[in-house]
Amino acid sequence: MENLRKKYLKKVKRIVVKIGSSSLTSPVGGLDMENLQKFTSEISKIKDNNLEVIIVTSGAIAAGLKYLNINEKPKKYSLLQAIAAVGQHDLMRVYSSFFYKNNKKVGQILVTREDTTKREQYLNIKNTIISLLELDVIPIINENDSVALDEIKFGDNDTLAALIAGLIEADLLIILSDIDGLFDKNPKTDANAKLIPLVYNINEEIEKVAGGIGSSFGSGGMVTKIRSAKICSFSGIPMAIANSREENVIQRILSGEEIGTFFIPEETRRLKSIKRWIAYGMLTKGSIKIDEGAEEAIVNNGKSLLPVGVTEVDGYFIKGDNIVVISADNRIIAKGISNLASDKIKMIQGKHEKEILEEFGPELCCEIIHRDNLVVF
Ligand code: GLU
Repeated sequence: MENLRKKYLKKVKRIVVKIGSSSLTSPVGGLDMENLQKFTSEISKIKDNNLEVIIVTSGAIAAGLKYLNINEKPKKYSLLQAIAAVGQHDLMRVYSSFFYKNNKKVGQILVTREDTTKREQYLNIKNTIISLLELDVIPIINENDSVALDEIKFGDNDTLAALIAGLIEADLLIILSDIDGLFDKNPKTDANAKLIPLVYNINEEIEKVAGGIGSSFGSGGMVTKIRSAKICSFSGIPMAIANSREENVIQRILSGEEIGTFFIPEETRRLKSIKRWIAYGMLTKGSIKIDEGAEEAIVNNGKSLLPVGVTEVDGYFIKGDNIVVISADNRIIAKGISNLASDKIKMIQGKHEKEILEEFGPELCCEIIHRDNLVVF
């Protein structure tokens, strides 16, 4: 049988490698220098093989705790932000000195969830990363924990890494963690747990398996890794999860070895850049519910969303906001940029084009979300 992994790894040129807090910290706290050294020298070798590598790193808070001799992660948010400010600096100091020994230069980019919501800024992140690659610098990305608003944080770097992979059209995302991959049961509590080497389809069963499997240091656990795999799959990007402490783990993944778990992307789904932004970059401001006819039109027939199929409008939003489209049986089926404000949609919902034109004129007519700005899940 053909090695399916190899098929997807053939043309890999640009990879995003995310490394979690649990891989960067030692059990007694502070940075795990040994693993960091191993990781940076591996990345350097990959780069010497002419691959473009972008790192998404965690570990700022863990490093800050150690630096400041604080034993327990505090709950007070402003204190955590201050700890991240100290730790991020220390983390970069270590990265930079290890990479320096391998003749590599690094650049730091700190991103907040808010930065991705404005299209220009979102694209700026991409341009900066691409420019760093052109300068032969390894971009190292983390969430800007020191300024991020608690309510709209990424919170976990798995999601951030998937978003970055989509943004810069990476060919592969590798998530390195303290776990060997996705198991059919929790390997920490069940000796019969088996590693799942290949995932073709992230269905409910996979999501159920992932629920509850977590690690003690990072904020991700398996649930957010599966969410990332979904984002990648949707963007047409394969993803792998593996144990950061395995020897030559990245090179082995790249050569197609059956290590960790490999997620096959939906090939037909290489979403256009604007749609990836709508799906994962923008925040949503409200929702509309549609009937079965409208669902059929947008899901199966590739049509724009028209007022006649709208049955409910929820939340307050304005023209240009991103909204969620919900089916009659309450499933999230799409997201898209609304052509009209919520109060205007309420006036025309359920009506046909002719009625709207007669009653309100062309201003409120007629597509609510144009096909080009609509992402169907
Ligand atoms: N951004 C956080 C940090 O650097 C980590 C988030 C995560 O663990 O995924 O400490």
